[in-house]
Amino acid sequence: IPATGDPLLDGLNPPQREAVEYRGSALLIVAGAGSGKTRVLTHRVASLLRNREAWPSQILAITFTNKAAAEMRERVEDIVGEQAKGMWISTFHSACVRILRREAEQFGFTKSFTIYDSGDVRALLKRLVKEHEGDAYGLTPAAVQSRISKLKNELHDADSFRSQANISDPAERIFVEIFQDYSRRLRSANALDFDDLLAQTVFLFRAFPNVADTYRRRFRHVLVDEYQDTNHAQYQLIRELTKPVQGEQMDVGGGMVALLPEASDARASLTVVGDSDQSIYAFRGADIRNITEFERDFPGAKAILLEQNYRSSQNILDAANSVIRNNFDRKDKKLWTDQGPGESVVGFTGYSQHDEAQFIADEIDRLRGQGTNYSDIAVFYRTNSQSRALEEILIRAAVPYKIMGGTKFYDRAEIKDAIAYLVAVVNPADELAVRRILNKPKRGIGAVTETNIARFAADNDMTFREALGHADAMGLGPKIRKAIEQLDAVLQDATEILLPAEGDAPPTSVTEGLRLLLNASGYEDALRRSQDPQDEARVENLDELVAVTREFARNNPDGTIIDFLTEVALVADSDDLEDESGVVSLMTLHTAKGLEFDTVFLTGVEEDLIPHRISAGEPGGPQEERRLFYVGITRARRRLYLSLAMTRAQFGEVSSAMPSRFLQEIPAGLIEWRQSPSEMNGRGAGARSLGGGGSAARARENSWGQRPLTPKNKSSLAEFTNRVTGKVRDNGDLELTAGDRIQHDDFGEGTVDAITGQGAKRIAHVRFESAGTKKLLIKVAPITKI
Ligand code: ATP
Ligand code: MG
Repeated sequence: IPATGDPLLDGLNPPQREAVEYRGSALLIVAGAGSGKTRVLTHRVASLLRNREAWPSQILAITFTNKAAAEMRERVEDIVGEQAKGMWISTFHSACVRILRREAEQFGFTKSFTIYDSGDVRALLKRLVKEHEGDAYGLTPAAVQSRISKLKNELHDADSFRSQANISDPAERIFVEIFQDYSRRLRSANALDFDDLLAQTVFLFRAFPNVADTYRRRFRHVLVDEYQDTNHAQYQLIRELTKPVQGEQMDVGGGMVALLPEASDARASLTVVGDSDQSIYAFRGADIRNITEFERDFPGAKAILLEQNYRSSQNILDAANSVIRNNFDRKDKKLWTDQGPGESVVGFTGYSQHDEAQFIADEIDRLRGQGTNYSDIAVFYRTNSQSRALEEILIRAAVPYKIMGGTKFYDRAEIKDAIAYLVAVVNPADELAVRRILNKPKRGIGAVTETNIARFAADNDMTFREALGHADAMGLGPKIRKAIEQLDAVLQDATEILLPAEGDAPPTSVTEGLRLLLNASGYEDALRRSQDPQDEARVENLDELVAVTREFARNNPDGTIIDFLTEVALVADSDDLEDESGVVSLMTLHTAKGLEFDTVFLTGVEEDLIPHRISAGEPGGPQEERRLFYVGITRARRRLYLSLAMTRAQFGEVSSAMPSRFLQEIPAGLIEWRQSPSEMNGRGAGARSLGGGGSAARARENSWGQRPLTPKNKSSLAEFTNRVTGKVRDNGDLELTAGDRIQHDDFGEGTVDAITGQGAKRIAHVRFESAGTKKLLIKVAPITKI
């Protein structure tokens, strides 16, 4: 490839260059993992800016996570400098919030609307399902939540859905009523849920062509990464944005409306990149057809294929390809690399998930010793609950780690309380927030008083929050009245700091407002006075939140409390604020999409985990799980570990596991198998070549009490390992009698002392020269007669 001297094109292969340089209305880049799709998107943005074909403000680039957005911004900044600042590089959700906050008044909200996360939604639906007695019809809050979410992603609102629902079915009628009630409550709380953010933006554009035009005129270039995971609402949003400008309507009097002439072909150019093999959000309504039918939806679209993978070694790529090949209804892709075969994929079988975690800690320790940074290492799992065992052992082994996505900081009760205090100030209509803090800390305001306040509010046509200002009129006891008055006063004081009547609040106001709320409300004090050691950690978390507000003020000199709450709501949903340098990253396979790491541990490669039990029975489920597994494998650059345990404690039960079917799809020659160190206790410490020594090894000795396995467990693990590795040992009816000499794969030579048991359960008692006496199941033990 000839060098051009252009830093945006050098370092790209010919089809990648073409994709950066193409200037047409629609461009589709489809390609397998690691082929440079995101890189091309980034260079394309940079090239538009550098060539002055676009102002930063004319670019809208959509990524799947906030982290990906930050990375792309950084890379564009590296290439074109400061001017990258004005660009919208964000997730769909953040872009929609920005639009909705600006236009909130158009659709009857105020710009300080609250964003309900899925916990808030669940809390509200719990109440509604109860009120409507939904459980009598088999409706659970979780099921209602997921159905409403699906409907919204299909761009149904409660009323449009009602008109097509089969209301003669009582369960369906109740569902529709809950849906309608839910929508009303959200509206009166001046709140939107995550799905609303997308749907309302589409509705807004459709209802107000002038508003839509504003954004069509503004965004001349729309670019979307991970297009295979867009759902219907996101797809429609892109369609709206890339329509030609409709033209201003002008009232020319006499009831006549004229359209101002505008360049009618002025439509934004659209670039989408994706890989249908990596579509993993069907369960949230992602529709793979958005990518497969792109060329039909956008006539004249140019399609570019990328086939060279730059991320992974050949062995890793081979493993990935051999798995994904088993999905039907896909176009086969030729993904290749010119990096050599690299290291073998390492497989590991442990007795328990602790064994598995211990192996990982030991390996990390060993890799560290060889100069690998923690930040180059990632550990993936299918479900969040798998992280606990890993965390326990990483903590003991003093391996710094960070959990990306999932339950963390912003899901903690004390953090949600603190945020609710802020929301109660900023959006007093948000009844859920006000109710949440009503008796936090304990003020003696119980359910009865809460109901009284709600009734007073309804009777007097005011909000719940407003009602707090009339505690004297509710006929309450003096103590409770005083408590409510105090709370009301605290909220008012905070309002003056956060939303001053005149002038803009300084950026430090967020920190000040939060501190006032936590102190004056007595919330922090109550935690400090508590004897519960957990409350100590809670105080630390609140301090951390205060630190977050300070950092926010530093990064956003013009930031308001609303900006802060927006950031929190969006970050809390997807990924973390803090940077993860110098720590091992733990995350679910879903969160791993689009990322890459030198070393990847893909854990729990077992049936019921991957493919997950829930999706196994659903149409298309196993295929989606295979794509998820493929996503996991293709994150690895140099080293890939696939690990599993033969027993796993989940939901308080220990059950035995089966190796994942996906393992068998990888040619045996690609994987080098190792097994649990504890299985090898019998061979003495010297044989533990896998263990890293150092802190991890020391930690093991006094860790979760990993006792040497019993002989029975040991032989069942050996059998399990053999099954996994395809080396199922079957000695058939090996003739053995006392006095025979045998050779054992691990223990060396020995003499048979006695034979007990019958048939397949015959056991040889063998005296080994170096390993002592062992009982072996003749049928499967790795032995030969000599
Ligand atoms: P995924 O499907 O996983 O999102 P992707 O197609 O977006 O992958 P990128 O993340 O853009 O792939 O690229 C994968 C890796 O390959 C990155 O480290 C990127 O910098 C590197 N890369 C891409 N193209 C080239 C190239 N032409 N020369 C060298 N390295 C490249
Ligand atoms: Mg990518």
